[in-house]
Amino acid sequence: MNRDSLVPLVASPFRHYINGGWETGATAGVSFNPSDLDEPVGEYVRADVRQTDTAIEAAHAAFRDWSLASAQRRADALDAIGTEMLGRRDELARLLAREIGKTLPEAQTEATRAGQIFKLFAAETLRAFAEPLASARAGVEIDVTREPLGVVGIITPWSAPLAIAAAKIGAALAHGNCVVFKPAESAPACAAALASIIGRAGLPAGVFNLVMGSGRQVGARIVAHPLVAAISFSGSTDTGTRVLQAAAARQVRVQLEMGGKNPFVVLADADLDGAVDAALSGAYSSTGQRSTAAARLIVERAVFEPFVDALRTKLAKLSVDHALKHGTDIGPVANAAQLERNLDYVRIGQQEGAQLVRGGQQLERATRGYFFEPALFIGEPEHRIAREEIFGPLAVVLRAHDYDHALHLANDTAYGLCAGICTRSLERARHFRRHVQSGLVTINLPTTTVEHHAPGGGRKASAYGATDAAFWTAVKTAYVAG
Ligand code: NAD
Repeated sequence: MNRDSLVPLVASPFRHYINGGWETGATAGVSFNPSDLDEPVGEYVRADVRQTDTAIEAAHAAFRDWSLASAQRRADALDAIGTEMLGRRDELARLLAREIGKTLPEAQTEATRAGQIFKLFAAETLRAFAEPLASARAGVEIDVTREPLGVVGIITPWSAPLAIAAAKIGAALAHGNCVVFKPAESAPACAAALASIIGRAGLPAGVFNLVMGSGRQVGARIVAHPLVAAISFSGSTDTGTRVLQAAAARQVRVQLEMGGKNPFVVLADADLDGAVDAALSGAYSSTGQRSTAAARLIVERAVFEPFVDALRTKLAKLSVDHALKHGTDIGPVANAAQLERNLDYVRIGQQEGAQLVRGGQQLERATRGYFFEPALFIGEPEHRIAREEIFGPLAVVLRAHDYDHALHLANDTAYGLCAGICTRSLERARHFRRHVQSGLVTINLPTTTVEHHAPGGGRKASAYGATDAAFWTAVKTAYVAG
């Protein structure tokens, strides 16, 4: 008998998980499937400040013992979480597709990645963190060790609710910290499913806690609470800036992964078919709701028209429909606010004189959902649609005179998350890789090409602070004599 038939993954109402038990909230809401607004995903609860404090205090009380737990104990728990996630990836994927509107293949990829991330941290836990250092003096030893921080507040967006949470929770627990996790309000089911799996992994009560609710109340309280030793945040640059200001006010450690407006350069010598496919996937997969999406397509003038024509043709063949329907290429937009934002930016683009090549309309399908026809604009670098993060299936093509101009346009942005280039020239590829101002760079691949064991990161308004062990631990240098 497999595990699925023994334990339900998660059931509505989706509740908080505090100090090893499930708790109802101060208030409740209902989430709906963005592919079918007549289908509720479930009821979920919201915490108030008092309940948030209870979770933080539980994590604080659990920290001493957990921080001293053996590496094997931590590894076993993380491995158990990863094993159950991978064993139930189809259930998780269906839930993710119903909650966020990722197509089933996209959701399966994310659920698998989330499970693999926990497995990766299980293995990392068993690596020695000590770094012996030679002393300048005879008879003295220097030991550099890393110690866990305490309670870590983890605040995440709705766009990849399993994978982003896995990366942060996995790292925090692997390094001996306790967690208070606040997911986005529009992804409560995935968060509760994750908490139920973590709850079965043998962690002591209080080591992992889930509190759901609004950013302004629950999120802000986590950032402000004196018992929270560090905050790891993913979300928009605007919210990240607020989190940073609040964290700075009490000088607490903080790490932010934020928005992007990522350039994807196509040079005249590129394999045009490959470049169009990479642009299509980079700009529109996951309904464009990825921080790594290629939102600015910068194309050298010699291939500008053929590129736009080929992209328009391929875009027209994509099927936008219910996320669980076989053959759907693009699922719905995840929520009403994001749909409104996409439609607003289509209007803004038209008002500022950008040329709408195709798409940009709300679509009707057999079910009542947030369906939006992927949009392609030809624009100018100063247009708002070419400068501001939209976070939807909307890309702007910009014309570049030559490579230098393309590089200039690529860097002409407040953001610095990722960047891509398509070229057959090794020299140009190497130059771009060195001079583009971003944390990730892809050569002849979509900008969304991200692997979970490689460092992420970003620059400028896209990121703040380290993401590796340096963030999750505090260094202690010991001088020891004889
Ligand atoms: P958001 O900024 O609206 O919310 C992110 C999280 O912050 C949510 O849990 C929210 O409730 C919480 N929050 C809101 N106000 C808060 C406050 N004052 N204090 C503390 N927490 C608060 O982002 P979103 O709409 O959920 O997600 C989309 C954004 O996330 C996009 O900008 C996207 O680029 C970004 N993102 C970045 C990455 C990355 O790795 N760089 C990955 C995914 C998404």
